[in-house]
Amino acid sequence: MADEKLTQATPTVEHPPIGDVVLRIDNVVKRFGDNTVLDHISFDVHQHETVALLGASGSGKSTLMKCVNLLEQVNDGQIWLGDTDITDPRINMDKQRSRIGVVFQQFNLFSHMTVLNNVTLAARKVHKWPREKAEEKAMGLLRRIGMDHKAKEYPDRLSGGQQQRVAICRALMMEPELLLLDEITSALDPLLVGEVLEMVGELKAQGATILMATHEMGFAHDAADRIVLLRRGHIAENGSPYDVMDHPTDPETQEFFAAYNRV
Ligand code: ADP
Ligand code: MG
Repeated sequence: MADEKLTQATPTVEHPPIGDVVLRIDNVVKRFGDNTVLDHISFDVHQHETVALLGASGSGKSTLMKCVNLLEQVNDGQIWLGDTDITDPRINMDKQRSRIGVVFQQFNLFSHMTVLNNVTLAARKVHKWPREKAEEKAMGLLRRIGMDHKAKEYPDRLSGGQQQRVAICRALMMEPELLLLDEITSALDPLLVGEVLEMVGELKAQGATILMATHEMGFAHDAADRIVLLRRGHIAENGSPYDVMDHPTDPETQEFFAAYNRV
């Protein structure tokens, strides 16, 4: 009897069960004019999972990441961060953004600010942390990657690889539930790619939840738990690196990966 009452009192659950899903992309549509870039895209990223978002240039990887980071509005569908529908216009954007750490391909750091000020900026300005608290946290993050001695340097005194590692530190400041990495090694000298990917590998090993767009196929293969391949607005593949990259059955998918192996 008591159980029955409890059941009745439970409000209707309006969102799908989330479980350990950190990010749920649910039927997302994104158009620019009459160009439908994302056409009913759905997939989940689970806690501690690394998902590599692959696809030809122009397939919508960055657009999808911008929708997740609330830099672009979806035309239809929902994006759930944990149990929050972040496509609901009533949400607090700053609060939701602070749950996500973002690193882009380039132009991540402000050139007129020291490394330390770059890393602490959002914590101080958006989240109103006292400088001392923000700097202590930032120095801890920089120390972990052996960059604490560069805290007072300006970004142009750092290599591209060091700059991207600092940008990752900045993304980690608010202890985000999800990391979005959009081709973070694409603008780097090939010699500097390794140190950045190594840092991503360490974050993964520490349990981070990561959605990354990349053209580093070897890294995607070895580091990702799952591959999501975008093609003409749709998800062409969503599966393990073994299935999607090593044993693709779809001819277009075979061609996509073969093209990378030829270069
Ligand atoms: P990817 O990151 O996979 O290379 P993008 O998400 O950058 O792809 O782009 C996907 C498509 O959306 C492309 O056709 C691109 O021209 C278009 N696009 C991206 N941003 C805009 C924008 N702000 N306005 C109009 N079209 C855009
Ligand atoms: Mg892109």
